[in-house]
This record gives sequence, structure tokens and C-alpha cells, in this order.
Amino acid sequence: MRLGFEHTYAALPARFFAAIHPTKVAKAQMVVVNRGLWSEIGLNPKDLDDSQAAALLSGNELAEDSTPIAMAYAGHQFGQFVPQLGDGRAILLGEVRGRDGILRDVQLKGSGRTPFSRGGDGRAAIGPMLREYLISEAMHALGIPTTRSLAVVTTGEHVYRQEVLPGAVLTRVAASHIRVGTFQFFAARGDEEALRQLLDFVIARHYPEAKTADVPALAMLEAVTKRQAHLIADWMRVGFIHGVMNTDNMALSGETIDYGPCAFMDSYDPQTVFSSIDLGGRYSYTNQPGIAQWNLARLAETLLPLIDADKNKAVELATKVVEDFVEHFELRFLECMRRKIGLVSAEDGDADLITRLLAAMQKSEADFTLTFSGISRAATSPGEAASLRVLFTDADEIDEWLSDWHLRLARDPQSPAERAETLRLANPEFIPRNYRVEEALQAATSGDLQPFNRLLAILQRPFESQPEFEEYRLPPPPSEQPYKTFCGT
Ligand code: AMP
Ligand code: MG
Repeated sequence: MRLGFEHTYAALPARFFAAIHPTKVAKAQMVVVNRGLWSEIGLNPKDLDDSQAAALLSGNELAEDSTPIAMAYAGHQFGQFVPQLGDGRAILLGEVRGRDGILRDVQLKGSGRTPFSRGGDGRAAIGPMLREYLISEAMHALGIPTTRSLAVVTTGEHVYRQEVLPGAVLTRVAASHIRVGTFQFFAARGDEEALRQLLDFVIARHYPEAKTADVPALAMLEAVTKRQAHLIADWMRVGFIHGVMNTDNMALSGETIDYGPCAFMDSYDPQTVFSSIDLGGRYSYTNQPGIAQWNLARLAETLLPLIDADKNKAVELATKVVEDFVEHFELRFLECMRRKIGLVSAEDGDADLITRLLAAMQKSEADFTLTFSGISRAATSPGEAASLRVLFTDADEIDEWLSDWHLRLARDPQSPAERAETLRLANPEFIPRNYRVEEALQAATSGDLQPFNRLLAILQRPFESQPEFEEYRLPPPPSEQPYKTFCGT
């Protein structure tokens, strides 16, 4: 069988990857498959039944036109440089060109050991793979650039983590899997030729406009910086915390990648951290822009020889680009937050208005998502402000804010219907509430997929009111807090 694969990455020199076949599994069984995505990305044939698809997406059968490889990369993990990581349990089957003309990677995750596995078993458990499926599809529905999920297949084998769990393979679809760590891999080896080839590849694939720039490496760095600034603002407008923003988990494409201990914030606290291993809060909600910029500085370092032969000049040029991250982020974040309070025009006082709201939310430990959906309601029908006010402990403070906000809305040029639409698209009703995600994954791990499928369906329409699922909008009961994620992936 042929799936229509191309192999532009596998055409790069051999030191970019290891050619390796997926390890066959005992019994491949489809758990969830994204048929819409299958045809959107142009994967052939479209009409495979579940068992044929499961055979291909577990690695039990290899398409005739697949050239499976594990990609090499390095990375800073929690600030420590590791010169060799690489796909330790992922295998790129090939690339497909979608109906939109875009080339995308199709990758198996949990498909067996590779030369990059180090001590690992190359496998994945069903819970974390379904978690990535659910959260990535939720992020996509929220309008945030992300890798997508095509399928999860169980293997009929056990994996050994803190407990014995059912094994599974996730099929991930990405604009590409090139990471900051991919550049670091070659820079650490002083392999300038490979850096140049990687740069050309990334420019051709993601930033074709950089090709004709005076200094293509600098133009690419600038474009990546802008996309990352937008991405982090997008995360933060929905309360998303990635949790492991290591340089090997930052994609050059600007997509969110590698969903491990990520989670969504309930009550607003900028210091929120969910990952049990992130003891210093390095990857907390509020640190995300700073860390993204730190990662971009690591990328910039790898590009210096490609920017200018004069190292001082290269450093000067690259530093300026990385410094500009702050401005890109702040502008974009302000723009997102303006929309969350229903504004499409800009005034100098807007940042202050938003900061005051966030400060009041923090003081009251107000739920992030409910506050903004309350704002959507209060903007369109002021009688609804009551449901917003109950989220705040200091009534005078929120009343004063509401009155300043109404004055500001009066100066914003939108009809009520336009404003309602602005707000609807800025403020989701449904996010993946951590306790709901856990509930669904636990049931799925013991064989009951109903809660998972229900939650997935709800999260695929986050901006629609779904009154029959009102309880899925709600924050967790106190017994479910504080929530912690574990890196048992
Ligand atoms: P992650 O924490 O998933 O971003 O992975 C960090 C590194 O560890 C990557 O090089 C992975 O390929 C590798 N890795 C994670 N889990 C496993 C596993 N079970 N077997 C082999 N390698 C793994
Ligand atoms: Mg990773």
C-alpha cells in the first residue's frame, strides 16, 4: 500500500537522522482516529477501515512508500545542555502534501526503540498518548498553532512506568519536527555545513520569504521570533501552560509541540506551575515569554556563523532580533487581551485597564476562563454582570473596573452584534479542565472510551455554548486542587 509519502528530510545527509523501522506490536487496535484530518492532509487512501489503519499507524505494517527515520536533535532540558537527544521513541514515516499544498510530517510516537533511545523503552502508555491527542485537538479548535493528532492505537502490550499500563502509539501530524535543539545538535558538533543545510531546509519549508533577504539566517531568526511571540501570547490568552519548554520542545514552525505535563490554569495566578518536576517554577505561566526568548537566544547562538563572518557583528545583529521578542509578545498579548474584553480599537489606557482586571482576578483567585466568559455576557447584556461579580471578593474594586470598562466600550466602534462576535471568538466557554481530562483518561485506560469521546467532542467546539454540557465549563471542586501533572509519559 502507498500513502502518498514524500521524503524531503530523509533526503538530507545521513547524519541528520537514523534510518529505523518501527518495532511491531502484539495487537494493534484503533482507539481513536481523526478521519477529517486524514483527508485534510491528503493521506491516501481515504477509505481504509480501522484495522488496516491501525496496522499502519502502529508500525505493524509499513507503507511501500515510507522511509522511516528517527531525527537527531540536542537540547537544553531545564537549562542543562544535552548534546544528544533525538527521537528516542518516535519515527517519521514520511511527509504528505495536504489539500492546502502544505507539506506535513506524519510521525509515530511510542513506536519502539531507536538509536536515540538512551535508556528508554521506546514505548508510550495509552494515557499520555490520549492526553496529547485531546489537548492538541483542543488547542487547534481554540485557534492555536499546534501539531495535530491523527490516531491513537493500542499495542496489546504492557509498558512499565510507576505502574503497568496498556501501551499505545500516537500518530502526530506536524508542519515539521525541526526544533531549536535540531540546530543545537549541529552547532554543538561545529558542523557548519549541516547548519547551513538545515537553515535552507527550514527556510524552504516554513519561511520562503527569508530566502531572498540580505541575511537569510537573520531573516529566519526574525520570523521564528515573531511566530514564537504570537504562539506564547496565544497560549496565555487561554491560560495554557506548556510545562516543559526545553529547547528540544520548541518547533521552528511555530507550532505547539510535545504535550507532556501541560495543563490549563483554573483560578488566575501568574505563578501557576503544574509539573511535579518543575520545582523552581522555571516554566510557570508567567515565565513562558521569558523562557521562549531564552530558547530563541540559544537558537540565535547556533546561527551566528551563518549570520556574519565577523562574530561581533553577528552577535550584535542576532541580539537585536532576540531582544525584539519582548515587543512582539507584548503587542500581540495586548491585542489578544483587548479582544477578550471586547475591544477592537486601541487606546493608551487599555494596558492599564487589562492589568487592573488581572490583578483583581489574582486577588480573588477568580477562574480565568469563567471570568472572561462572564465578561462576554456582561458586555452584551449588562444585567449579566452579576454572574461576573460573584467571582470577585472585593465588590467595590470590580464595580469600579466594570464602570471604567463600560466607558471604554462606549468609545470602541463596534455594533453590539459585532462586539458579541468579537467576544465569542476571544473567550472560549470550554477548555480542557484538568480534572475532566484525568477522568476521561482514567476511564479510557481501563477500557471505557465514552468519557474521552464526549470530552473530545465538547472541546472541538470551544466557542459554542453547549448548555447540555454546562458541568464541563466549571472549575474543579476543591478536592481536585492543587492539580499536579507527572512526567510519566
Ligand atoms: P520528551 O520529554 O517527551 O520531550 O522527551 C525527551 C527525550 O527523551 C527525547 O529525546 C525523547 O525521544 C526521549 N524519550 C522520552 N521517553 C522515551 C522512551 N520511553 N523511550 C525512549 N526515549 C524516550
Ligand atoms: Mg520532546
